[in-house]
Amino acid sequence: MSFEKLGLVPELLSAISELGYTKATPVQKKVIPFVIGGKDVMATAQTGTGKTAAYALPLLQILSKRDIKEKTKRIIRALVLVPTRELAAQVEKSIKLYGKNFSLVSCAVYGGVKFTPQTKKLERGVDILVATPGRLLEHVKQGNINLSKVEIVVYDESDRILDMGFWEEIITISSMIPKKRQTLLFSVEQSKSVKKFSELTLIKPVKVTINNQGDLAKKVRQTIYICDQDKKSALLSYMIGSKNWHQVLVFTKTRKSADDLGKYLNESGLKTLILHGEKAHSKRTKALKDFKNGTIRVLVATDIASRGLDIEDLPHVINYELPGDAEDYVHRIGRTGRAGNLGEAISLVCKDERKVLKDIERLLKYGLQVEFFEGFEPKEWIEKEANKHTIKAKIERSQERRSKTANSVVGMRRKKANDRNAQKKATVKKRKKVTKRD
Ligand code: AMP
Repeated sequence: MSFEKLGLVPELLSAISELGYTKATPVQKKVIPFVIGGKDVMATAQTGTGKTAAYALPLLQILSKRDIKEKTKRIIRALVLVPTRELAAQVEKSIKLYGKNFSLVSCAVYGGVKFTPQTKKLERGVDILVATPGRLLEHVKQGNINLSKVEIVVYDESDRILDMGFWEEIITISSMIPKKRQTLLFSVEQSKSVKKFSELTLIKPVKVTINNQGDLAKKVRQTIYICDQDKKSALLSYMIGSKNWHQVLVFTKTRKSADDLGKYLNESGLKTLILHGEKAHSKRTKALKDFKNGTIRVLVATDIASRGLDIEDLPHVINYELPGDAEDYVHRIGRTGRAGNLGEAISLVCKDERKVLKDIERLLKYGLQVEFFEGFEPKEWIEKEANKHTIKAKIERSQERRSKTANSVVGMRRKKANDRNAQKKATVKKRKKVTKRD
């Protein structure tokens, strides 16, 4: 469906056409008309489905129609709450791109960076604020943010916000926003806490569910390589090198394994940077920038990067270790196969991870293709195969022996029969001679 049919104004149509969007994605088709119509919306959709535009486009349209006079100081009229700094930066960037033909001002505030530049921006006046809950409340405490004029609030990836333990913060923030407002609640999964929160915050919401597990299977080729834990780093570096991949996002389960793997890959000659929560924000931003522009070949990240990381055309995602939570598998592999492109997700799975693999398959509702990578087959499998070969060889040897024995028995029987025949012939000949003489 084209964006014109969704009721978007020309300023937005021209901005998204410049971005190359020609058709609305399913979540955009379903959500945009309701938001324009002023409804509360509760939507379940994976990352990578175009959900940011699904709320940001109508939000911009609504605010632009009620744009304030030039001289009045801007005050926050839309608030977008997100779980991570990466997603905050990403969402604000999208809002700026979509709203380039309006005079609306947006700003993102999140932790891990200095307060002052954010405070200065807030002081100049902002229409749309994108924020993580912790830093938002710190600004509120310092008197830098006033939420009393918010007209639209978006909770993006609310399940993740709540999973991260921000329940109280979210309730506090919601209580600061006027009751008369429009609320849009987005989540990847319909968890119990999202449901509970939705009951507290939404009024007669329109419910939209985009079932995209099947889409994921169509967009992303998923392969599981069973291998030994201690061979994973060698296999990974061999795979990247031999297949000549140049932009690979690798996920590890812990910060330590991200650090160890990063070191190993750099030593193997693959330019690698590491992204995890312990890294300073400036280092995280630089790692992302270098990865996006191709300065580095591999980015090793913990799950912090599995959401909110949008790199167009990311061709390969590798799970060096499966995540503890099956849902994170979906987020991780959702980093590839985005915006209509095909992607590839490879998981290196060792014996201890087979239970998580089963959980993932249960969540996906289909089995994943399991293979061995030649030369990196797990020891257990090699032993089993070797054992099979030994048994096979034993069987062949005994068959050989049996057939030899059988041959010699047959030979002996044949010899005996031949001897008997010869003896018979000799006796007959003798008798004939005797009869002639008589
Ligand atoms: P999101 O799920 O919001 O993180 O979006 C995933 C990616 O899809 C981003 O790179 C968007 O720029 C892109 N995108 C969103 N909507 C469309 C569309 N209608 N057509 C093409 N690309 C889109």
